[in-house]
Amino acid sequence: MEIIKRRGVPVLITCDIDPLTRDERIRYGIPLSEEQSSLLGTSIELMIDLLSDIGINATFFVTAALCEEIEDELNELKRRGHQIGCHGLTHDEYDNYARLPYNEQFRRIRSATEIIEDFVERVTVFRAPAVRISAKTLKILEIGYLTDPFVSSMDDNTMDDMLDNPKTIVDFILDLYMIK
Ligand SMILES: [Zn+2]
Repeated sequence: MEIIKRRGVPVLITCDIDPLTRDERIRYGIPLSEEQSSLLGTSIELMIDLLSDIGINATFFVTAALCEEIEDELNELKRRGHQIGCHGLTHDEYDNYARLPYNEQFRRIRSATEIIEDFVERVTVFRAPAVRISAKTLKILEIGYLTDPFVSSMDDNTMDDMLDNPKTIVDFILDLYMIK
C-alpha cells in the first residue's frame, strides 16, 4: 500500500467468489473432502480482516449460484460497506459469455442479477466468469450495469501460469503500472 500511495496511482481492489473445481482443489492442495461453504466462508473472512487492517473497501464479485451458501458472509461484506458485484450465474463451462448466443446470455445475466439482488442491494458491476466476455455481453449489461471493470488481455495459459505462482501476479501488476 505504501508504494501505491507514494505514486498516487488509483487502485481498485476486487475479489471473485467462485465455486471450487476439482482441478483447483488439487492444484492448491485443498482437501477434496472439505466443504465448499466452509472454504469460501474462511476465505471471505480472511479478506474482510485484511481489508479492515489496511482500512479500505473492495468489490466482491459473487457467482449467483453460491449466494445461498454464503449468505452470512454476503451480509457481513455489505454491513462493512464493501460492494457486491455479479460474477455470472454458475461459473462453470456453460457460463461462458464469450461463446453463448445473445438470448442465453441475457437469460443467465438476468437470472444471476435477480438472485444476487435477493441477497444484497441493487447490483451495478459485472465481471464475467473467467473473464470470458463478448460484444453481446456488453450490450446486455446495459439492462442496469454501470461497468465491467476487468477485460483481460491475457490468454488462458498466461492466466494459469500466474495462478500457479501468485508472486507473478503482483509483479505483473507492478510492471503494468510501472510501480517499482
Ligand atoms: Zn471467477
